[in-house]
Amino acid sequence: MAIQLPEDNKMSADYEAQNYLSSKKNSRLRKLVPFITTAIIVSVVFFNCSSLFSVDTSAFGVNPVRSGCKRTVPLVPTFNKSISTILNDPLYKELSIERLSGAVQIPTEVQDKNPDPLKDPEFYTHFVSLHEYLHKSFPLVHSKLQLEKINEFGLLYTWEGSNPDLKPILMMSHQDVVPVNKETWESWNYPPFSGHYEPESDLLWGRGSNDCKNLLIAQLEALEKLLEDGFTPDRTLLLSVGFDEEASGIWGAQFLSPHIHERYGDDGIFIIIDEGAGIVEVDKNVYVATPVNGEKGYVDVEVTISGNGGHSSIPPEHTTIGIAAELITLLEGNPFASEFRTDNPIYGTLQCMAEHSTKLPKNIRKQILRAPICKKARKDVNKFLSEQPALRDLVRSTLAVDIINGGVKANALPEDTKFLVNHRVILHSSVNETVQRDIDYAMEIAEKYDYGVSVNGILLKKQTANGIINLKTINPLEPAPISPNDGPVWDLLAGTVQDLFENNVFQKTPEESKEIYVTTGLFSGNTDTKYYWNLTKNIYRFVGSIIDPTIMETVHSVNEHVDMEGHLSAIAFVYEFIVNVNEHGNDLA
Ligand SMILES: [Zn+2]
Repeated sequence: MAIQLPEDNKMSADYEAQNYLSSKKNSRLRKLVPFITTAIIVSVVFFNCSSLFSVDTSAFGVNPVRSGCKRTVPLVPTFNKSISTILNDPLYKELSIERLSGAVQIPTEVQDKNPDPLKDPEFYTHFVSLHEYLHKSFPLVHSKLQLEKINEFGLLYTWEGSNPDLKPILMMSHQDVVPVNKETWESWNYPPFSGHYEPESDLLWGRGSNDCKNLLIAQLEALEKLLEDGFTPDRTLLLSVGFDEEASGIWGAQFLSPHIHERYGDDGIFIIIDEGAGIVEVDKNVYVATPVNGEKGYVDVEVTISGNGGHSSIPPEHTTIGIAAELITLLEGNPFASEFRTDNPIYGTLQCMAEHSTKLPKNIRKQILRAPICKKARKDVNKFLSEQPALRDLVRSTLAVDIINGGVKANALPEDTKFLVNHRVILHSSVNETVQRDIDYAMEIAEKYDYGVSVNGILLKKQTANGIINLKTINPLEPAPISPNDGPVWDLLAGTVQDLFENNVFQKTPEESKEIYVTTGLFSGNTDTKYYWNLTKNIYRFVGSIIDPTIMETVHSVNEHVDMEGHLSAIAFVYEFIVNVNEHGNDLA
């Protein structure tokens, strides 16, 4: 997996310093080039940061000695009929509020397990209402684009481009929302399916307002506007909209993806943009956009301790519940170690923080920037990240014991105790490596209490008179391939963000001087894109909105809401991105 080191590692170190500095507009910093280069050389001598011994050789095809935080060249579209209207016209905003609110009012809740839509269409009645609502709200989209219903309720819109040689753009979202717990209903500021808009705060409230009816509606609003403006794409555009993303997409995305694959084949899509991160203000008037270009892997391990039943008046020293408890304690007592690497997409976000935000400790900012060429710096950054509850899971695998069952009666020994460990797998690890740890600890307990062990039906240690510990892996998913953070496709995405915000959104308040940088990010969870890997290497999870972190805390929780200014820029982003690909990306296959 390791990439080849450059022949001259010293050169890489200098290149890093120069590259980082050349990205700066600030001429004062340019004058510091010789100083910083000298400082790096000094640090090589005094802090054992010789690049020869400590360049981060981790792979994934991302160059480790290149600043990941850049101010990209803004990509200005010529076809620009409505970007200003979308962002600034009060009447457009009013209609947009109405369209989003209407969608939030349809309670398309899904549970963890949902019935086969062919066998139980009744369960999906609200999705039919949503389809009717979309049809009514977006008349041009529904008269000009082809709409296919995949596996009954999945939506695939196709806007045929004039040039069939160009691979289509694919945008994704989902119609479903996580259910609202009835007991929390009273805690909502406004009823969860009211779609209430509050003019004073500019917030629109309700389940799905932020995850992700807002994105679905934004995409359709952008398309409706483009059609109204007479735009004709050269490249085909697809909208693929699942209906059970919150339940792993098994009826939605899992059917949509092969349908698209059958039509366009392996690597047949130009780019995929799905729900994801947005833009955050990392310091006063400094913004960082983080299209997420990687996702951790996933696996559940179901552990069953099978022992002997009997009367509880003559118990063994440990029941299967006791054994399970000890195994759980062992697992939780040995969390996965953090391992920060510079090819982790989160490093892009960290670089932007280090370069432009005073929110991180000064020393850590310095170490982040030195990380590609200095082992000690990586160690320091790793230590820092491992101590931050909000960040540590982006640099390590995790485990969470989520379900447990055992015992039925006070006077009967529990024959079986079963629990489930949910794992999220860090990028440089694998499902196998993650599960192996569970197996090792199960073996340790099995030795101690004289039990057998089996994994997925394969016997590792013979069953004993006491019983056996069975491990079963469920829903394994390797970490997602990392999408490129440079090259022409990335530049189209980053350049659009740069232009939209720098030259449009920020111009709403010209008295403030605002900056935006575009870099990469990582998800610890998975979106529906997990079914789409074979369609393109360019998969980004991104919404064109400035997102207040406090808003994100309400997603999947009480008082979910979205701010309408953010929603408008999300529409404008989709509009502008489609135009920019058409105007600047037609020489790309
Ligand atoms: Zn979502």
